[in-house]
Amino acid sequence: MFEGPLTESILQRAREKGLLEIVLHDLRSFGLGTHKQVDDSPYGGGAGMVMRADVLVAAIENVSTPTPPALPAGRQAPPPRGEGGRKKFGKPHRIYFSPRGKKLTQVKVERLAKKPWLMLLCGHYEGIDQRVIDGFDGAHHKWIDEEISIGDYVLTGGELPAMVLIDAVARQIPGVLGKDESAAQESFSKNLNRKREYPHFTRPEEFRGMRVPDVLLSGNHAKIEKWRRENLR
Ligand code: SAM
Repeated sequence: MFEGPLTESILQRAREKGLLEIVLHDLRSFGLGTHKQVDDSPYGGGAGMVMRADVLVAAIENVSTPTPPALPAGRQAPPPRGEGGRKKFGKPHRIYFSPRGKKLTQVKVERLAKKPWLMLLCGHYEGIDQRVIDGFDGAHHKWIDEEISIGDYVLTGGELPAMVLIDAVARQIPGVLGKDESAAQESFSKNLNRKREYPHFTRPEEFRGMRVPDVLLSGNHAKIEKWRRENLR
């Protein structure tokens, strides 16, 4: 599922330049028994399946520990830079995607972009066993640092939210965008007072009777700047 978005255009270039490293881990490789089971039926009954705490915690601990335990059979080792990264970056900031989480905003994206290492846990089915989210005994048995929602609707799994977050965060990493694509002047940025951006126009000057606002053709940069400020929403 991750292939397209992570191997195209801006994200692919960022990965090639070494500005961003993404390692995918298949939860099923931590699954139980011959069927590599990762889910089970919910206590209390009801439809759907719930992802098991023991499987998820094994996966999270494996991915997060500075010296990872031996990889389960069939699981691909992360590239060497990933191993080095574990030592260099300490522990990851661990995010679980859920419609119940706090809404993702540009401010949160900017904050996450400053963290050297994010671990993104994608749920499926009905979601995951609540004990993974809650943890206990303070930092010793804590597996999730933040629960994030990408909006008030329900998707099938956490993969699309993960891709949304990766894309939004990557844009904030210095060097990822070319100089023509600065993230500093976009909707919700600090520079635009966290407002929605002004409208854009390009050639032709007149299209089906609709003209580009005169001020944008005036060449008067102070006036253009003023117009843009007035047209933030
Ligand atoms: N039973 C859950 C509920 O009603 O809140 C929905 C589970 S959903 C079908 C399966 C998984 O998709 C979730 O565990 C989560 O990882 C992901 N997901 C779905 N919608 C999401 C959203 N709006 N934001 C973040 N993650 C979402």
